[in-house]
Amino acid sequence: MYHVFACKSFDVSSANKQMKKNKISKEEVIKRQLEADKRFNRVSIITFVSILLFLFSFLYIQQYWCELRFKYRMHFMYGKILPPDWVCMNGNELEPHITNRITLNELPYFVCSDGCYDWFSNNYQSCGFAKDTITGKLINKAKAVIGLQSKNKPEVVYFETKASFLKYYSQHEK
Ligand SMILES: [Zn+2]
Repeated sequence: MYHVFACKSFDVSSANKQMKKNKISKEEVIKRQLEADKRFNRVSIITFVSILLFLFSFLYIQQYWCELRFKYRMHFMYGKILPPDWVCMNGNELEPHITNRITLNELPYFVCSDGCYDWFSNNYQSCGFAKDTITGKLINKAKAVIGLQSKNKPEVVYFETKASFLKYYSQHEK
């Protein structure tokens, strides 16, 4: 009899304990769920903002690509030989876009627009030639070595030889 009672009483208390445990673990589950939700929300927001930032920078770069490249070239091409089709030989400037090759007097020149072509071809005797920046000798732009006059500016200078070119940049080291 005693044994049965004892056994029963043990059963009751263990059931109570079990119930308490269940209650705690339920609260724990809800709490964990809420934390997981919070974490998920945080990750979602970060992902969303990252995608948005990426999209905006992509659009910005696409929109201003030419301008950015132009600025980059004005800075980093200083002291380097410029390809002639980056230059308008009428305006004597580096251009944001590739310039048009024209042939005058059987020599290749490069201009940025129809207007520049007209002016250049009508004034060939003055526009087709330039002074070597170091020696002062008159040279044909079609055969010149071309470089930037100064950093971060589009104006170009012409040289008869690579030696003149190198001398100019050793004198104007920045
Ligand atoms: Zn031009």
